[in-house]
Formats: sequence, structure tokens, C-alpha cells
Amino acid sequence: MEKLEVLRDQLDGLNSRLLELLNERAAVVREIGKVKEEKGLPKFDPVREREMLDELVKQNQGPFEDAAIKHVFKEIFKASVGLQEKEHKKHLLVSRKSQTGNTVVTVKGIEIGGEAQVMIAGPCSVESREQLRTVAAGLKAAGVSILRGGAYKPRTSPYDFQGLGEEGLKLLKEVSEEFGLVTISEIINPAHMELAARYIDIVQIGARNMQNFELLKAAGDARIPVVLKRGLSATMEEFIFAAEYIYSRGNEQLILIERGIRTYEKWTRNTLDISAVPILKQETHLPVLVDVSHSTGRKDILVPCAKAALAAGADGIMVEVHPDPETALSDADQQLTLEQFNSFYDQVLSSGLMKTGASTGSSR
Ligand code: PEP
Ligand code: MN
Repeated sequence: MEKLEVLRDQLDGLNSRLLELLNERAAVVREIGKVKEEKGLPKFDPVREREMLDELVKQNQGPFEDAAIKHVFKEIFKASVGLQEKEHKKHLLVSRKSQTGNTVVTVKGIEIGGEAQVMIAGPCSVESREQLRTVAAGLKAAGVSILRGGAYKPRTSPYDFQGLGEEGLKLLKEVSEEFGLVTISEIINPAHMELAARYIDIVQIGARNMQNFELLKAAGDARIPVVLKRGLSATMEEFIFAAEYIYSRGNEQLILIERGIRTYEKWTRNTLDISAVPILKQETHLPVLVDVSHSTGRKDILVPCAKAALAAGADGIMVEVHPDPETALSDADQQLTLEQFNSFYDQVLSSGLMKTGASTGSSR
């Protein structure tokens, strides 16, 4: 055999041995990752890395220079940390890897995340009995089964209407019983979870509180369905980890909702991230909704946005409706009148993009 060929064979053999050793090393790294996980220790340990690099440089006989050895091993260390992180991701309870079938949250016979896509509507804030009764009656007549309405409002300015508080929750209970509606309302204080369970059917955790970890833990400890909104500038990973906070504490009745993210765009209140819908459906087994009101902040593009959300696989739509939006105490610009809502819903339904069924948000 020619010398070059012999050397090439030798190199191939060395590559195979290196590969074998690298994977043997990776298996040990995984074991270390599991032990660290059990002990709650961080995956990345810079002190240990420094010690290993110093030891390798000490042992280095060349011909590689110390800098090259350091570079190569740093890459190996980096890949190893990545390996441990991927393992971790594989084990997220909200991940599709943990459960292949879809989670369906059933509230009073209404399925969210099931075969049919739901319509959730109602005012930004609960303002009075009369306001809530009017909107509930109109929505019920339109075929909506899930009523939203804020009792605790997380407002940017402390001088703005903060919501009716417990009184608002009581009104939601009263009105939902009168009209036979499922209710959703935001809770902003971890101590209010039990209170919420007394009056409403689904607790909402708002965008501003997506990383309020104490609130997430309280929602996880409660046994009431939870709708978690995506934070104003939350990445998919942050959103999914926030969901994991709730789910991992045993509350599996969890629903995600895309409500737009902050970008430089000024013509919409937020930027509706439609790609979030298929990503969340792919990465998690949880129901995914789209709030077209807070994501756009305007009324004139709600139909195409809702259609896009449904086409992208959303399990439902949330939209704000008020009997008299001009006098609304919050989000006056984006709320639809009942008449506008009827037209919106008709257009969405007649597009054929919304799957409706026996136990849906629609009785149409
Ligand atoms: C809301 O739905 O009432 C609300 C305040 O929305 P967000 O948390 O998405 O801003
Ligand atoms: Mn609002």
C-alpha cells in the first residue's frame, strides 16, 4: 500500500476512536447532569472547566499548541452543557415530548383545545352590573359561551381605573349564572387564587405578570383552570418556562394565549406573532389561543387577524366587547360594540376557518 493510503487509514481509525471517546464522554456528562439536577446544582460550572483546561494544558506534549488544545476542549465543554440543556428541555412537562396528545381543558362542558375552536369575548373591565349584563346577554344571543372581564386591572398608570376587585368577581359570578356562561378574569395577587375559585371559572395571568413567579406558583398550586398570557417581550422559551412553573406544580388545566409582543411598530398596539401559534402547538401539548384585541389595539383588522390565527391552528380567539366602548374605563379604542362583534363573528364563521362543534364556544 502506498504510504499516503496507510496514513489515511490510520487517520480514519483515529477519527473513529476520537468519536467513540467523545460519545463516551458525552454519556458521562449526561450522568453528571442527572446528579446535578437531583441536587439542584447549576449545569455550567466555570471553576471546574478552568481546572480541566489547566490540567489539559499541563499534560499537553504537542504538536498542538496550548491555545489550540484549549480552543478544541472549550468547544467540547460547550457542546456538553448544550447536551445537558437539551435533556432538560426533553423533560419539560408541558412539552410535546412529555405528552403527545393534546391537553383539553373542559369547563362546564365547554372544551378548550378540543376538536372545536372557541370564541371568548367580553369587556376589558367589569364596570357595573348593567354593563356586564348587557354584554353577557348580547354575547349569549350571538352564540358565545365564554365571557371575559377584568376585575383586577394591572394599569400602566396608578391613576387609571384599577378594576372593581372582589365586587367585579361577584358580578361575574352573578351574571354568568344568569346567562349560563363560563367566565375568565385576571388575578394579579397570589393570595387571591382561592377567592377567584369561588367566583370565576378560569383565572387569567396577564402579560405583565407572565414572569411573576410567585403568582405562577400560586396558580400552579390552585386547581382552577388558568389562561397564561405571553409577556410583552417574552421569547417562546420564557413563555414555555412560565407555563412549566404552573404545570409542574400539578395544575394541568393550563391554556396559553398569544397577545402580541412589543416591537418598533406604531400602527398596531403590539405585533401579533402568528408564528407563535404553530410553534407553541408543536412544542407543547397545551391549548393555544390568540387575543386579537390586545395584539392589534384596533378594531378594523380583527377579522383577518382572527382568520390567520385560526388557520395557524389556534384553539380559539379572545376579543374585547363593550356595550358602549366610547365610555369604557379601559381600552376604549379597541373594544367592539355588540353590533360590531356580531359582524366580526359572522365574518369569522362564514370564512369556514373556524371549526365549531357540539361543545364549543359557539352554539351557532
Ligand atoms: C386583559 O386581557 O385584560 C389584559 C390586560 O391583557 P394583557 O395582559 O394581554 O395586556
Ligand atoms: Mn383590555
